[in-house]
Amino acid sequence: MSRAGIVSDPLRFASEGRSLTGKLALKGNKRLADVLSGEQGEVGYTLLGEIGRDDKPYFRLFLNGAMNLQCQRCLGPMVWELDQVSLFQLVRPGAEIPEEELEIDEFDAIEATPDFDVIALVEDEVLLAVPFAPRHESCDAPRPQGGVEKESPFAALAKLRKNSGAQGV
Ligand SMILES: [Zn+2]
Repeated sequence: MSRAGIVSDPLRFASEGRSLTGKLALKGNKRLADVLSGEQGEVGYTLLGEIGRDDKPYFRLFLNGAMNLQCQRCLGPMVWELDQVSLFQLVRPGAEIPEEELEIDEFDAIEATPDFDVIALVEDEVLLAVPFAPRHESCDAPRPQGGVEKESPFAALAKLRKNSGAQGV
């Protein structure tokens, strides 16, 4: 491979059972900056080319990494661990994707375009995988109304009024 993250001939890559491993640094990544909280970390990827039992060419993409998200309950930082495998059936550029294949959940169909951009595929997969409303397994929301330990500001205000009333004029 002369260029990082590029597969020059995807169909050949699959038929020869080749593999490509790399890392996508999150620092400076504009596409992922919108969904992540902070630029620390990286996503490791391994792309395997293979011919399926149906004699069709496939890409199998392994992703793993730890990214920072913002918890939507306590609004604190949280680490989100990504560890997934995706399967893609390669379709010749311009060829029609058979409808029945679109209904199979096990894989997506992608065009086997020359100089295939693996980084863009990794980014697509991360964007799809990021939870919509990430939350810590257990944490407390910052409640303005207060809980058991904390007195509500309204109660405190009421007390203050009562006190000032008691002091009288
Ligand atoms: Zn939280």
